[in-house]
Amino acid sequence: MPTVLGFEGSANKVGVGVVRDGVVLANPRRTYITPPGTGFLPSDTARHHRAVILDLLQEALTESGLTYQDIDCIAYTKGPGMGAPLASVAIVARTVAQLWDKPLVGVNHCIGHIEMGRLITGATSPTVLYVSGGNTQVIAYSKRRYRIFGETIDIAVGNCLDRFARVLKISNDPSPGYNIEQMAKRGKKLVELPYTVKGMDVSFSGILSFIEDVAKRMLVSGECTPEDLCFSLQETVFAMLVEITERAMAHCGSEEALIVGGVGCNLRLQEMMETMCQERGAKLFATDERFCIDNGAMIAQAGWEMFRTGHRTPLSDSGIRQRYRTDEVEVTWRD
Ligand code: MG
Repeated sequence: MPTVLGFEGSANKVGVGVVRDGVVLANPRRTYITPPGTGFLPSDTARHHRAVILDLLQEALTESGLTYQDIDCIAYTKGPGMGAPLASVAIVARTVAQLWDKPLVGVNHCIGHIEMGRLITGATSPTVLYVSGGNTQVIAYSKRRYRIFGETIDIAVGNCLDRFARVLKISNDPSPGYNIEQMAKRGKKLVELPYTVKGMDVSFSGILSFIEDVAKRMLVSGECTPEDLCFSLQETVFAMLVEITERAMAHCGSEEALIVGGVGCNLRLQEMMETMCQERGAKLFATDERFCIDNGAMIAQAGWEMFRTGHRTPLSDSGIRQRYRTDEVEVTWRD
């Protein structure tokens, strides 16, 4: 019964989770929230993570009722993500592994999301839509790899939403995406925006520039409201995501879809995906904010799968990688 402790801190969330054989024993998390109109800079985010990570470690142990002797492996996010936050957390993971004399496993963050989603929902072999502030990918498993069927060719969908929230000076608390979702519910007018699906890939940077320009003109003239723009942006970018996910499902003959990543807790996105899945006789799986937003347990869970199938990360290779693609990891724990 291996017990794995996982550290996550690739963006503005930092978390420490404990997983034992499919059971999440603890999963405390903190979010670095900046004032409206601003994003989070790597160095400030790393400072935030450094300030809270030892408290989180203590909380995770207390909450799980375990001591360090009960931990069999330390997992940490190797990448992808922002350099300084990743490094601030990797240093703690590496240090704890040495102090406690435990093996270390570096985890691909995207695979953490997938394994957490599979664990929580019970989806067995889903086509995965991974959508967050830093990532946008459609992924399916085949022959010992999580293969990327489609992805953004520029910014992530969550980054598009976050940056639009900054234009409107929407609060970043609890997250810009959550606040856009609430405002979108009150939107009435659909403003036409570019729809940029390119084969299996999507692009969001042009849509962002376009809607920034629309906001300047139409909000001033009173032609639409901020709520209308939130609604229009969500409807457009989510439709693009549903389209490429459906195409991947058709290609794979997949009867399951799983949404993971921070944008995955958006209920409008879940509703649109549900409609698509129902129409093709497939089943949709999704989780709530505890598990789809970055957290330590997802790294512990992927680390648990890796640990039990023999993965170990030597200290000499225990650094971080800002770019680390989902399909680089050999998946040793499925079929
Ligand atoms: Mg993520």
